[in-house]
Amino acid sequence: MSSSETPEPVQSEELQPETLTIRAGRPEGQASMAPILWASTTYDMGSLEVGREMAHSSRAKKFYSRHGNPTVNAFESAVAELEGAEAARAYASGMGAIAGVILGLCSRGDHIVAQKQLYGGTMQLLAGVCPRFGIDVTFVDGTQPGAFAAAVIPGRTMLVFAETPANPLLDLVDLDDLGAIKGPITVVDATLATPLGARPLDHGVNLVLHSATKAMGGHNDATLGVVSGERDLIDALWSFAVLQGACASPFDSLNAIRGLRTLGPRLRQQGATAVAVGRALEANAAVNWVRHPGLESHPQHELGRRQYRMHGGVLSFDLAGGLEAGANFVKSVRLCRPATSMGGPETLVTHPASTTHAGMTAEELAESGITPGTVRMSCGLEHVDDVVADVLRAL
Ligand SMILES: *Cc1c(COP(=O)(O)O)cnc(C)c1O
Repeated sequence: MSSSETPEPVQSEELQPETLTIRAGRPEGQASMAPILWASTTYDMGSLEVGREMAHSSRAKKFYSRHGNPTVNAFESAVAELEGAEAARAYASGMGAIAGVILGLCSRGDHIVAQKQLYGGTMQLLAGVCPRFGIDVTFVDGTQPGAFAAAVIPGRTMLVFAETPANPLLDLVDLDDLGAIKGPITVVDATLATPLGARPLDHGVNLVLHSATKAMGGHNDATLGVVSGERDLIDALWSFAVLQGACASPFDSLNAIRGLRTLGPRLRQQGATAVAVGRALEANAAVNWVRHPGLESHPQHELGRRQYRMHGGVLSFDLAGGLEAGANFVKSVRLCRPATSMGGPETLVTHPASTTHAGMTAEELAESGITPGTVRMSCGLEHVDDVVADVLRAL
């Protein structure tokens, strides 16, 4: 090579996922290391012919920002690259992405198989909204091998919807099992795993989605969702998304690209802190059980080891003192903060039975696996010793 030639950039296939997060979504030829914020909602089309072409193209970068926006596109490219996907579409939130997939792909008379261990908003959409549109949903236990496949109605089931690890009890779904289902479109909400934990598309799953509001954005300053998969499927989602209007904000996309750059070290530290907190809790008489896939006590620990490169910082545990103990714990922490969401720098604690799930009956709670004493914790980036000390003191 002569000194005037620039070396070829190293190919993605040669790199570890953590290395990809450092450059993913930076357009070729862009000298700026940081992402560029395109606030514009509209763009000079140049000519009517170009305008006509762009109005109907999911790849139009500069037409109208509900259709596409260069900063949002950069975030989409970054996630597609990390997922090993042909394409991605960003949404205004994780729920925007979930609603976009379900309502964008299903019609009246269609059937969905979903697991019963699901994020609360997803559950409300499937159980409360889908029936209004004549879409039937069957719920199964996602931890049981073959449960999804057994519930599929050939010719009627349009979607099989899974979440792994599932919120809030960290139940796992075997991605090979899910990816082996042919016929319906298989979808995974992989918010808790992030693309650094596993790449569901490599297991044969059709669509992977995330609330990037959580660990991917990672700083509690971006409300964002994203779906990745084959280009044809993403194009179909795009057609509904421009009418749904849940388009991602350029500023939040910028924050999320910034967040992706440090996803590896953040996830590693949060996962290690969660395991340390979990071990301290397991040794404490006030605690009935602790759930984190990195703990040997997790019922699917082996699957977790096989399937995930790393685990995040979310864990849950059950306090022997029940409702009162759970509420007291959240009131007693001094470093951890009582707040919902997860994957950010601050360690957050929630008590579902007295907040998000307060309206549920004892039976409904039991069905979801949440006990009156269940506490969910999202470990942040404080020093592990300080987090463990705060938790033990609050007990
Ligand atoms: C938070 C969350 C969602 C919803 O995402 P938003 O960005 O809050 O709309 C969906 N799924 C899981 C697993 C979540 O944790």
